[in-house]
Amino acid sequence: MFIGSKIKSALLVLSISLLLSCGHKEEKKPEDDKILSTEVMTKEIQGKMTPAQVLQRLKDGNSRFLDGISTDRDFGYQIKKTSAGQYPGAVILSCIDSRTSSEIIFDQGIGDLFNVRIAGNFATPEILGSIEYACKVAGSKLVVVIGHNHCGGVKGTCDNVQLGNISAIVKEIKPALDFVKTAVGEERTSKNHEFVEAVAKVNVQLTIKEILEKSDILREMKQAGTIDVVGAMYNIETGAVEFINAADPIGKTLESPIGEHHSAEPAKEEHKTEEPKKH
Ligand SMILES: [Zn+2]
Repeated sequence: MFIGSKIKSALLVLSISLLLSCGHKEEKKPEDDKILSTEVMTKEIQGKMTPAQVLQRLKDGNSRFLDGISTDRDFGYQIKKTSAGQYPGAVILSCIDSRTSSEIIFDQGIGDLFNVRIAGNFATPEILGSIEYACKVAGSKLVVVIGHNHCGGVKGTCDNVQLGNISAIVKEIKPALDFVKTAVGEERTSKNHEFVEAVAKVNVQLTIKEILEKSDILREMKQAGTIDVVGAMYNIETGAVEFINAADPIGKTLESPIGEHHSAEPAKEEHKTEEPKKH
């Protein structure tokens, strides 16, 4: 009787565990795909990579981040390996926003990226100098200017905030406002979400234009194919990075809300606006 119940219990445990294992056989936990990486960027790796390969590396990193399979890194090992020198593949000019840290959203480690961060991700001579250092002196192959949605710097600019040194930031982002056209009477403040997002994208495009116009070093490196300069928008709601097509026109005409205006004309398309210049 006693032995019988023991056998019964054992069989029960066995069948439960079999059931559980069968039920979960096909399921893969996100951490199963994680890679424990001790790899760091070396002079050899950096030297061999093309700008397109560095860009792909960032795209793959953002995909891993979105899939919840960001790489497990041995930071202690990476600290040791990078202490003698750094050979980052890219330099990222991004906003100070706490939700947009490049190493996290691109799943990169120590020594992988140069970071320039300023509210509203625009370029001043000092910032151009930092990017020039990253590419010309330290060998990075890619410049990424990355803006994001719900950006406080862009919203403050749309509202023309004047407050201490924040006014200086507003002044830098302001030229982007002129490239976004709205219907007469349409809200051109942070209350208009579509307007804010359009300004944020234009701001990235103008910053790229500024980099290439005002930095002889970076323009020549891009013309020679040694580096590439690309724009992107980060979505703080989804974690996705969307790269901006270099052929996209700078500027946007926002359509009027449906039903508000009666017009026989077809919906307006994005159009290229050359003037005014940013500075
Ligand atoms: Zn921001």
